[in-house]
Amino acid sequence: EAFVPKIIDVNYIEGSGDKRWSSHDFPWTKELEVNNKRVFGNHSFRPNQREVINATMSGCDVFVLMPTGGGKSLTYQANIPAAYLSANMEWAEQQDILRELNSDYCKYKLLYVTPEKVAKSDVLLRQLENLHVRELLARIVIDEAHCVSQWGHDFRPDYQGLGILKQKFPNTPVLALTATATASVKEDVVQALGLINCIIFRQSFNRPNLWYSVIPKTKKCLEDIDKFIRENHFDECGIIYCLSRMDCEKVAEKLQECGHKCAFYHGNMDPAQRASVQKQWSKDEINIICATVAFGMGINKPDVRFVIHHSLPKSIEGYHQIRVKHMLSQGAIEQSPMTSGYNRSNMTNSGRILETNTENLMRMVSYCENDVDCRRLLQLAHFGEKFNSSTCQKTCDNCLKITSFIEKDVTEIAKQLVKKHRHETVSLHGAGKHLGKGEASRVLHHLVVEDFLVEEVKKSDYYGSVSSTLKASKPGKSDITPAKGSLTSGKLNATLIDTPPQPQTEVDLNLSAKLYTALRMLRTSLVREAGEGVMAYHIFG
Ligand code: ADP
Ligand code: MG
Ligand code: ZN
Repeated sequence: EAFVPKIIDVNYIEGSGDKRWSSHDFPWTKELEVNNKRVFGNHSFRPNQREVINATMSGCDVFVLMPTGGGKSLTYQANIPAAYLSANMEWAEQQDILRELNSDYCKYKLLYVTPEKVAKSDVLLRQLENLHVRELLARIVIDEAHCVSQWGHDFRPDYQGLGILKQKFPNTPVLALTATATASVKEDVVQALGLINCIIFRQSFNRPNLWYSVIPKTKKCLEDIDKFIRENHFDECGIIYCLSRMDCEKVAEKLQECGHKCAFYHGNMDPAQRASVQKQWSKDEINIICATVAFGMGINKPDVRFVIHHSLPKSIEGYHQIRVKHMLSQGAIEQSPMTSGYNRSNMTNSGRILETNTENLMRMVSYCENDVDCRRLLQLAHFGEKFNSSTCQKTCDNCLKITSFIEKDVTEIAKQLVKKHRHETVSLHGAGKHLGKGEASRVLHHLVVEDFLVEEVKKSDYYGSVSSTLKASKPGKSDITPAKGSLTSGKLNATLIDTPPQPQTEVDLNLSAKLYTALRMLRTSLVREAGEGVMAYHIFG
């Protein structure tokens, strides 16, 4: 089963940069200004906030891509009378709220509902219809909209049921917001919600105040972490993310021994324990937390100075992959409660989630292995954003260490690779072994991105692991002009004689996601053949 998102013709209207939406002449502008100051205490609007509000108030469907902390909430909520409905509430309590919604002078202006309520509760849908008929349903807001997509990191099946809203209320404006949207997630969300001609507001996801680095992980990893903190962030606040609950406890213990004010935090602790750690952390009695992803979504501490990812685990060889998969199926890696609950109840979909997770992991490995390209460029490419790495200003490890470009003619290598794959299907094992590790990846990357090679990913039965094969694409595509390639610029300049390379579209981004998987496999086999030791990474972000 091909694991490629369907890209159907979706109409977007780019909202960012469109002057119309930044106008101060909307009928509500005055009230907007006043409320921003009075209700929120803000002096001004952040990028895109005014624009989003103006577009949604004008009745358009709007899709907002804004980094976490960018201020999405302000675009749809204020201190106005609100209520929430959830399945956990007493039935009588729910009835009270529904009755209020039904009344002629409903006091609520904003109703928060969980997606499962919409997907599963006819009562609620009927109530919404009723409000709609009375022309009281002004707007539908879907926050964390990426949860709609199976391609996202936090898929929640009930979000898919939200498509019904646009079906039932085609003329009620929808405002969808997320901080996570790769090209494929974005397409998926827009389609699932049934948005047509929606206005998209997006802004750069670059975070210039962060410094990125990937450091090889050795047996001395914990000593390295201790040293890193001591030398750069002593007595400052930080988070160390670990994969498993046990890792959290081990790392915390070791750092405590080293004299850091450190605690662990994971889903296996009882709520009181967790609350106590959070309290100590907010009061600065603890300044380092070793946590699983259970910690983090809601933290709001302005003085976090470093984040360390202690895992990816010890080896990128099969063991590593299998361990992660195994742990996923055991629920030992923490996911949002709804996702893991779903995993248990639906095998087919949990398989798909697993596969998405694997792919995400592969990309992460590839990111870590890349010791050439700007980290910002790599991250932003993932979000479909172009980034000029010269503006990184040496705020990532790769930009910092690379001082000069080496030019190398790789034409022959590229030709050989394509020829070899053209006549037969060659497994990646051993291909390009005469190249340096990084070089092989970069040449192959280019050849696949430019469509000379096509990748086939297959799942083998053995361990359910994924194997990857490269094939030459259509005949005639193997003519490569002599090319001089800069191995550090990300482009090899090998171009076709007759057909010019296709401009990189958003679909291509997905292709390169697949490619990352292939490259990782290639790397792995190269490492194996070269008899090198295992490689593992951790990241100081
Ligand atoms: P998001 O949902 O995009 O992650 P939030 O809506 O939670 O972000 O906002 C993040 C923080 O930014 C909040 O503390 C909020 O009060 C603050 N904020 C939002 N808009 C503004 C603004 N215009 N000026 C100053 N602070 C703002
Ligand atoms: Mg938010
Ligand atoms: Zn950089």
